[in-house]
Amino acid sequence: MNNRKAKIVATVGPACDTLDKLRELILSGVDVVRMNFSHGTHDDHRRRIGMVRQISEEIKKPITILQDLQGPKMRVGNLPDGGIMLNVGDDVVLSASSEPSESGVEHAIPMEVPELARSVRKGSRVLLDDGRLELEVTGVRMDAIEAKVVMGGKLTSHKGVNLPGTEILIPGFTEKDRVDLAFGLEQEVDYVAISFVRSSEDIKIVRRAISEINPERMDTRLIAKLERPEAIADLDAILDTADGVMVARGDLGVETSPQIVPIMQKLIIEAANKKSRQVITATQMLESMMQNPRPTRAEASDVANAVFDGTDAVMLSGETASGAFPIEAVKMMDAIVQEAEAHTNEWGHCHPTPDALGLQDDSYSLARAAKELAHDTDVACIAVFTRGGHTARVMSMVRPDVPVLAFTPDKRTYLRLGLYWGITPFLVPFASTVESMIRTVEEAIFESSLMKAGQQVVLISGFPVGGKRPPNFVLLHTLGEYG
Ligand code: ATP
Ligand code: MG
Ligand code: MG
Repeated sequence: MNNRKAKIVATVGPACDTLDKLRELILSGVDVVRMNFSHGTHDDHRRRIGMVRQISEEIKKPITILQDLQGPKMRVGNLPDGGIMLNVGDDVVLSASSEPSESGVEHAIPMEVPELARSVRKGSRVLLDDGRLELEVTGVRMDAIEAKVVMGGKLTSHKGVNLPGTEILIPGFTEKDRVDLAFGLEQEVDYVAISFVRSSEDIKIVRRAISEINPERMDTRLIAKLERPEAIADLDAILDTADGVMVARGDLGVETSPQIVPIMQKLIIEAANKKSRQVITATQMLESMMQNPRPTRAEASDVANAVFDGTDAVMLSGETASGAFPIEAVKMMDAIVQEAEAHTNEWGHCHPTPDALGLQDDSYSLARAAKELAHDTDVACIAVFTRGGHTARVMSMVRPDVPVLAFTPDKRTYLRLGLYWGITPFLVPFASTVESMIRTVEEAIFESSLMKAGQQVVLISGFPVGGKRPPNFVLLHTLGEYG
């Protein structure tokens, strides 16, 4: 077992599409697999989910599945394989029919135009592919938009289209999202990420949709992707409504500006830590590894700094979905995180305070006590027993120095825990006495050769054992003491 505490989320796609490649990717350190429903068909996603589950069983590690819904994002349609080259000064036409309608136009960009045509006028800026390419609108017609290339580059299929500063007239939760969500729930995904959240209302809409589509999956966790300025303004309410958030730096950097991204990242991570919500830092973390086997030094610093900021997880997007070095990217991310974590005592910035955590019970005090006890007495790990995951979440949020082993009889909780900072989940039979808890812990520890007899474990749980209650007891146990 590796001792890394921050989790790694990897987006899957064509770059790791065989069982062997996907297994190698996961074994390199992936904890959570992200499926981006902006790309690929349901058949692709179904096949990948099947492979992930099979590998997870094989390697006896819960691999958490995160479904990312596209949301109200306009995208380019299908382009020829390898994409098209847009040069500065080129005239282009955006239209649903892919034939250039005007003479003298170099390129046709296929796009569903109605929303765009309603939202832009002559002179508007249109950004493509997270802002890498820029167009200026020169003419608007019913079924087509004419534009000139201001910033050029290669454009490939399905890249995002942004109109910073312009309100786009599309509902937040689209018809496609509803269909995709129904599919995800049927596939029993653990988390659903909601794109372009504007306010806490957008999260409630998805929760309501789940209750209509598949009430049995109401415990599916919701992650709000923070990529619009309005969401930052409503951050507190969003954190109260969602189970976690994502610092979605790609679109955030386009919708605001790149220099705002680092500040937003710190602000969002701190706010999420204070409310004990999971936070994922995403986009371009090791972007240059799309083409190169080694990252830039700036990228290595970025990953380490997200860890120091207090993120629960770091994410890979194109690097693992469609890059040339997906496995190297995961290994590199793992190495950078481990190195950073060896130095969080000097540079780390994650100090949740009890009042700010907003918990209604004693679980925070218990978790703090367990952390201190582990620290003072040189304990090898903390073991928690949890049914819905609450105790594990609080234990994770106090950021203990030692690994936390979380034991649960609930398969869904077990799968969700993969995203929690510092938590190694174990699926175990229901324990109804303290003695059986200790036996369970010892078996797990010895089986995974994590520790030796004579070392100590701090155990935290609710008492009397077996009920669903916040933790209220902490026990210091020496391994092997009960023979
Ligand atoms: P989002 O706004 O949701 O982040 P994105 O287009 O930026 O969407 P990412 O998930 O960030 O997508 O991945 C980066 C790139 O990796 C995509 O633009 C796409 O080219 C590629 N990619 C991701 N998932 C897939 C997939 N399932 N099939 C093909 N390509 C994919
Ligand atoms: Mg997005
Ligand atoms: Mg992206």
